[in-house]
Amino acid sequence: MSDVRDVIIIGGGPAGYTAALYTARANLKPLVIEGFNWGGQLMITSDVENYPGYPDGIMGPAMMADFRRQAERFGAELVTDDVTRVDFSERPFRVYVGDEEHRAETVIVATGASARQLGLSSEQTLQGRGVSYCATCDGAFFRDKVVVVVGGGDSAMEEATFLSRFASKVLLVHRRDEFRASPIMVDRARADEKIEFVLNAVVDEVLGGDAGHVTGVRLRSTATDETTDVPADGIFVAIGHDPTTALFLDWLDHDDAGYLVTEPGSTRTNIPGVFAAGDVQDHTYRQAVTAAGSGTMAALDAQRFLDDERHHAETAAASA
Ligand code: NAP
Repeated sequence: MSDVRDVIIIGGGPAGYTAALYTARANLKPLVIEGFNWGGQLMITSDVENYPGYPDGIMGPAMMADFRRQAERFGAELVTDDVTRVDFSERPFRVYVGDEEHRAETVIVATGASARQLGLSSEQTLQGRGVSYCATCDGAFFRDKVVVVVGGGDSAMEEATFLSRFASKVLLVHRRDEFRASPIMVDRARADEKIEFVLNAVVDEVLGGDAGHVTGVRLRSTATDETTDVPADGIFVAIGHDPTTALFLDWLDHDDAGYLVTEPGSTRTNIPGVFAAGDVQDHTYRQAVTAAGSGTMAALDAQRFLDDERHHAETAAASA
């Protein structure tokens, strides 16, 4: 049977590595089960220019390698594999990687979320080369360029409106002629003269594979099946996100979309000793810097939880 750790961190993105850095520096010797594909959403981002401390910008994968190295430098132990099951029924909590069992007094869940993709191979090839899932992150690279935004929800309206600050033209492509977005967000986008709505249309292919960057999109009408190639410099896919929470839904409170629910102003979940940080519990801000901030909160929450318990145990022992 494995030793009982103070803390296990599940997830290797900005939240997980920052929680690892803080818990390692607090001498809690964290075990980070970082996932086989560690790094999270930043691994499909090219330049990151909005993370404070990198005035010249940095590539997403390089930034995550830095996060990881910094956590390791202070003694965080990394397991590059996926958690397959958890058992939070009693303490110590149990976290499994296949048949291997790990036990800990506290667990920080930082498994993140992923942007939904269109599922096109040309989309995959051109990720970070004009295909983006975050206007806040990448919008500024498209000054005076033509961009396509895909989706009909609030995210798509918000991204299109944000992008119109930079782009010369924004084509908002939606598969229906009715919107999931709230009317006020649709009205705001409609009032923006740089935004052109292309309705009843889907993206069949992202063009630019030969050039190595996006040069346009092939649109298909859902009414007539007719296809049209439209030149564009970038495409923002804004069709929603999915939190990576399947393993936790039986244990932890979550909302209808599967995001874990934490107590306001903390990272505490409904199970004392289990904390959640980063995009797995945040569908609003979704930034690397906010995820890192919430990883810090989780580390401090776990540390205080352990300190309080030990203090109570000592007081009880002294008065016995
Ligand atoms: P969403 O509401 O689920 O909308 C996703 C949109 O993408 C839908 O219009 C959907 O089309 C379309 N879509 C899904 N899969 C597609 C595919 N494979 N190809 C083409 N189109 C596809 O997601 P969201 O816009 O990210 O919003 C998520 C939540 O966050 C919502 O509750 C939203 O209100 C909230 N939010 C709020 C704000 C704000 O208030 N400022 C901003 C952003 C998000 P169909 O409509 O045809 O299904």
